[in-house]
Amino acid sequence: MKKTKYIFFTGGVVSSLGKGIACASLGVLLKSRGYRVTILKLDPYINVDPGTMSPYQHGEVYVTDDGSETDLDLGHYERFINENMASFNNATSGQVYYDVIQKERRGDYLGATVQVIPHITDAINEKIESAGKKTDADIVIVEIGGTVGDIESQPFLEAIRQFRLNNKPEDTLVIHLTLVPYVAGANELKTKPTQHSVMRLREIGLQPDMLLCRTDRLLDESVKKKIGLFCNVSPKAVIDALDVKTIYEVPIKYAEEGFDVHVLQKLKLPKGRLQFDSWKRKVNRYLKVKHEVTIAICGKYVALHDAYKSITEAFIHAGMENDVRVNLQWINSETIKPRNVQEQLSKVSGVLIPGGFGERGIEGKLNAVRYAREKKIPFFGICLGLQCAAIEFTRNVLKKENANSTEFDAHTKYPVIDLMETQKTIRDLGGTMRLGSYPCKLKPDTKAHEAYQTDQIDERHRHRYEVNNAFRRDFEENGLIISGLLPDNSLVEMLELRDHPWFVGCQFHPELKSRMAKAHPLFREFVAAALRYNKQS
Ligand code: GLN
Repeated sequence: MKKTKYIFFTGGVVSSLGKGIACASLGVLLKSRGYRVTILKLDPYINVDPGTMSPYQHGEVYVTDDGSETDLDLGHYERFINENMASFNNATSGQVYYDVIQKERRGDYLGATVQVIPHITDAINEKIESAGKKTDADIVIVEIGGTVGDIESQPFLEAIRQFRLNNKPEDTLVIHLTLVPYVAGANELKTKPTQHSVMRLREIGLQPDMLLCRTDRLLDESVKKKIGLFCNVSPKAVIDALDVKTIYEVPIKYAEEGFDVHVLQKLKLPKGRLQFDSWKRKVNRYLKVKHEVTIAICGKYVALHDAYKSITEAFIHAGMENDVRVNLQWINSETIKPRNVQEQLSKVSGVLIPGGFGERGIEGKLNAVRYAREKKIPFFGICLGLQCAAIEFTRNVLKKENANSTEFDAHTKYPVIDLMETQKTIRDLGGTMRLGSYPCKLKPDTKAHEAYQTDQIDERHRHRYEVNNAFRRDFEENGLIISGLLPDNSLVEMLELRDHPWFVGCQFHPELKSRMAKAHPLFREFVAAALRYNKQS
C-alpha cells in the first residue's frame, strides 16, 4: 500500500504572508513532478464554516462543487493545482468541536471525560488522514491558519506534534513561513522575529524542517547561516520567498530556489521530472503585455478586495488569454447616482456587478446596469448582478415601476426576483442556500453558448433568490434572452440582451471555476468584448 506523505505549513511573525499561496505553489510544483497532491486548510476559528462570516471579516466565501462554504485559500488551491476541492479540504475548530460534542451526546465516548488531548487532537488527525484517503493523494499539504503563538491554533499544533510522533521522520515535514524584514536604519535584514517565532514552535514540540522566508531582497549566505543556527535547521533549508509582481510567479521562483526538490529529498521521494513550461510561458508573456483595459466592479465591499478574490484572479486568467492587463476600477455602488454615473463609468470598457446580499448599494448598481445597457458597454452580472440586470430591465424596459427583488422590497408589486419555494421555511443561516454545482443547459446561438462552445455546463451556486418565472415571457419578447436554464426548465440560470455587444448575467459564480491552466470562458469573452469596445471607442 502506498504511504501518503504530509507537509504541514505553519506561519509566524505576522499574518497575511501568503501561506495559502505558498501551499498552492508548492502543490503545483509537486503535481508537475508527477505526484497526486491535495491541500487541507485547518482554520482555528469557532465558526463551523465561513458561510456566516461577513466578507469584511473573512473575505470571500469559496464554494466547492459539493456545496461546501469554505475558506478563500481553497480558491488558490484550485486555481494553482487545478484540482477540485471538497468539504474535506477545509476544517475549522468549530467543526472539530461540533463533531466531538455530537459524539459525546450520542455516548460514543463510553463515559470518558472528553478533553482537548486526546479527543480534539484525535479528531483533527482524523481529518488530516481522511483528506489523504479520500483523494488517494501521494502528498497532503496541510495549511494551519493563523500565526504560531495564537491560543486558537494550539490544538492544531499539538495534533501535528502527535501526528509526527506516530509517523516515520521521512513521512512528515513541517515548513514554517516567516518574515525577514529589512530595516533601513540599520541597512540590514533582521532575523530576530523569525528566531522568536521558531522558538514558539519548538516550545510546543514542533521543530520546523524548513523555513520559507518572505523578504523583499535575497537573503545572503550569512543571513541563511544565522537563521539556520538559531532555528536549528540547515542553511540549505532556509528558502527565500521574494516579493513578486503576480502570485503566479511564486511557484516559478520556488522552482528556481530548488524548494520542491529539497522537499522531496526530505520526504525521501524521487524528484521526478518537472513539467512546468506552459505555466512559465504564460506568466512571462503576461508580465510583458502591452495592452491594458479597464473594467469597473460596482460592489458593496470594494474597500476590501479579498471579498472578491476569485473575481480578481479570474480577470488575471482572462487577461492572460487575451494578452491584456485588466485594470480593475473598484466603485462603491452606494456612490453611483443617475447624475454621476456617466462620470464614474465613461472611462471604463466593461462593467461587472458581483454577487452580494442585502439592500445597501442596490440602487447604485441599477444605475450602473442601465448605463451599460443603454451605452452598449460590455456588462457582466454575477448572481446578484444578474438579479440587478433583471430588475433594471423590468423597471426601465418593461416599464414596471418599482419592480424589485423581494430580498429588498417584500411587498413590491413586481417581484421579478423572488425567494425559491424551498427557501421559504428555512430559519438557519449557515449552509442553507442553494449551494454548489448544478447543471445548466445553454440556448444555441447565444453569447453564452458561443463562450462555452457546448450545450450543457456545470457551475457553482450560492444564493436564495431566483428570477421569477412569471416574467420570462415578457423578457424574451422584449429582447432579454434566457440563454441558460436548469435542464428541467424550472430555473433561469443565464440572461443576455439581444441587441447589445455583450451583456450577460449568470445566477451562478463562474469566477469560482477559473483556473490558471484555463481561464473561465465567460470571463475570457467578457474581457475580449471589453477589448473590442476599448478599440472602437
Ligand atoms: N442576495 C442574492 C440571493 O441570495 C444574491 C446572492 C449572491 O449574489 N451570491 O439570491
